[in-house]
Amino acid sequence: MTLSMPFHIYNTLSRKIEEFSPLHGKDVGMYSCGPTVYDFTHIGNHRTNILSDILKRVLKYNGFKVNHVMNITDVGHLTDDGDSGEDKMEKGAAREGKTAEQVADFYTDAFKADLETLNILEPTTWARATEHIQDQIDQVQQLIDKGYTYETPDGIYMDTTQISDYGALVELNKQDLLPGARVDMADKRNQHDFALWKWSERGERHPESAAAGKGSHHPKRQMEWDAFGRKGFPGWHIECSAMAMKYLGEQFDLHVGGIDLSRVHHVNEIAQAEAVTGKKPWVTYWVHGEFLLMNNEKMAKSIGNLLTISALREKGFDPLAYRYFVLQAHYRKQLNFTIDALTAAQHGLENLRSHVAHLPGNPAADPLVREQFTNAINDDLNMPEALAVLWTALKEDRIDLNMIVEFDKVLGLKLHNPDKAPLIIPQEVQDLLSERTAAREQQDWAKSDQLRDDIAELGFGVEDTGEGQRVVKV
Ligand code: AMP
Ligand code: ZN
Repeated sequence: MTLSMPFHIYNTLSRKIEEFSPLHGKDVGMYSCGPTVYDFTHIGNHRTNILSDILKRVLKYNGFKVNHVMNITDVGHLTDDGDSGEDKMEKGAAREGKTAEQVADFYTDAFKADLETLNILEPTTWARATEHIQDQIDQVQQLIDKGYTYETPDGIYMDTTQISDYGALVELNKQDLLPGARVDMADKRNQHDFALWKWSERGERHPESAAAGKGSHHPKRQMEWDAFGRKGFPGWHIECSAMAMKYLGEQFDLHVGGIDLSRVHHVNEIAQAEAVTGKKPWVTYWVHGEFLLMNNEKMAKSIGNLLTISALREKGFDPLAYRYFVLQAHYRKQLNFTIDALTAAQHGLENLRSHVAHLPGNPAADPLVREQFTNAINDDLNMPEALAVLWTALKEDRIDLNMIVEFDKVLGLKLHNPDKAPLIIPQEVQDLLSERTAAREQQDWAKSDQLRDDIAELGFGVEDTGEGQRVVKV
């Protein structure tokens, strides 16, 4: 019998790696900040979703039962991530000529499809912001009743100076504004104050009209609710504290998101929740994942350097190769994405699966391998180390299929019985294939061979079978 290390995780709040000790025995409450469904999710976002998934799988591996809630933001998240700019959902609706609800439905479905291809386990509860408006109104009302708020022509704001440890999550008191950073105070009393609820009527001046000096206001909002005596809509942060509390209680164990959320969004979620309940800490462990970079910049819509899972599939990649790529780096380190690195990851994954498919006769599973694997995943989710343990054990014939299946419950790489995912053939290749079919019908073999070479240059092979051309990825 071997004794493995219990689960440890780095807590942004304490700035230390701590032994995990949940509030309610083996029952763990966990909340992840989900997507704003105004556009496709990019693979940078999915690095953070893979982190949530791995954390959940490691907890399960350790015998915990995880109640996981993920929100879908479909209102209130503004284009500048602060309290000004346009509502991303309203902007998406205008762009696509649809209702905000249709846009949200479409991108929520696309998001869920991505999760499935990345083998990310579904949360226990999906919480959509527009389906929890009353919960958000109630929480704002509680903050009003407790005297934490003030009203401006723009909405209801949280007075952060009333919270003695405001920003403790990221030690805001020790941080100065970045040089050159400007705070748009608008009608706020204090630099960090933020909107809990915004009025519709004031509207935002459309940036183009504002630039042209015209006074016109942004078109009427699609999404607005009657509350606090006027029409309005929630601020970005209130949905998470209201919905997390509804499903996970006044205090719970884990809150996960990308590192960019820690400084403002999570600080404000904490301010709201702890002001409402008076209980600290609202969440015991805060887990933040580092960025996925492309060309050494954060992958982000605003920078335009993004890729989606569908784009990777069109290039012939297995989405799980992206998962493998992500697991090769520690979640608290930045990771630069390149197609070459993903190609290497795809080969690595195929190689791993081929080792698993060709396990020698009767390898005896060595319990020490399990101990090393468990110690790696329990050491602040050291997945690169866990993969190294697996590789070494395979090369030294110290692991059997049962143990591989057990480890894969954590890795989620479908190491055994991978899906035979349908090959996605890009339009360019499909056009060449049609041309080739025509050439062959006319018995133009030279042209047919030339087209085969052209197709090969795009990374696909053609085999001629009794039923026609069969395409393979090379
Ligand atoms: P957003 O849709 O921008 O609100 O982001 C959704 C989630 O993805 C948040 O947890 C972000 O922190 C995370 N995220 C956004 N960009 C990246 C990136 N380049 N790398 C890792 N996580 C990211
Ligand atoms: Zn959130």
